[in-house]
Amino acid sequence: MSSTAPFIQLVNLRRTYASGDVAVHAVRDVSLTIERGDFVAIMGSSGSGKSTLMNTLGCLDRPSSGEYLLDDVHVAGLDRPALAHLRNQRLGFVFQSFNLLPRTSALENVELPLLYRTPLVPAATRRARARDALTRVGLANRLDHHPSQLSGGQQQRIAIARALVTQPDLILADEPTGNLDTRTSIEIMALFQELNDAGITLVMVTHEPDIAAFCRRILVMRDGRIVSDTQPPRRRIARDELATPTQTSEMEPTETTHTQLP
Ligand code: ADP
Ligand code: MG
Repeated sequence: MSSTAPFIQLVNLRRTYASGDVAVHAVRDVSLTIERGDFVAIMGSSGSGKSTLMNTLGCLDRPSSGEYLLDDVHVAGLDRPALAHLRNQRLGFVFQSFNLLPRTSALENVELPLLYRTPLVPAATRRARARDALTRVGLANRLDHHPSQLSGGQQQRIAIARALVTQPDLILADEPTGNLDTRTSIEIMALFQELNDAGITLVMVTHEPDIAAFCRRILVMRDGRIVSDTQPPRRRIARDELATPTQTSEMEPTETTHTQLP
């Protein structure tokens, strides 16, 4: 199974949209290698192609030309069911707006990706795995809560648990801290660092240099191209460094705290 090939390999990748009469070159000639265990931030101004690149990595969109190899598999050669299978088996997704089902418990939200599995995952196994995933993100005591009863940070942790429940190799997160205050954003980054330490490869889009500083590698896009690819010294933070006895940042969904980090 394992090979010496890079985990992710993009070769001269292009994605062009037809927008009326004009062609929009959302991603142009991107060649990129991402190794297993990396933690990559994609930065760049609005419209620079970040989401298009992420959607390609996530097998949600197909390139107009170029190659995408995921673990030596030519993604372009896969049909829709094969792509869906690949997404479900290998990838986890986290979004800025959490994308949780509102009147559904945390546990049921997290079970959802397992419902689409073949062979079928028995209900008791689904439940146990969802509980494990929620425990991993620190929400073991919120299993029956609905998203509206939880803070933004807690909702995003449910979404991360939902991404984790299928035991993905790669988590793709498009501005996962975009709707969160500074302290909660840092908590999410601490959680991502923990998952990365456990061997999960992560690629995330962020606008904020302070958030990108938690990643191992920073790509900057401009006009559909990668214009910078660096590995600056990384900010490290453990979740237990952030925890306070009352978990203050998680008390109120609307609370905004700005914490200076050590
Ligand atoms: P970012 O995530 O960096 O803001 P996007 O990848 O969303 O950038 O968009 C890159 C460019 O592609 C933008 O000019 C955007 O308007 C265009 N674009 C994105 N999606 C579509 C689409 N479905 N149809 C047409 N143009 C699109
Ligand atoms: Mg975007």
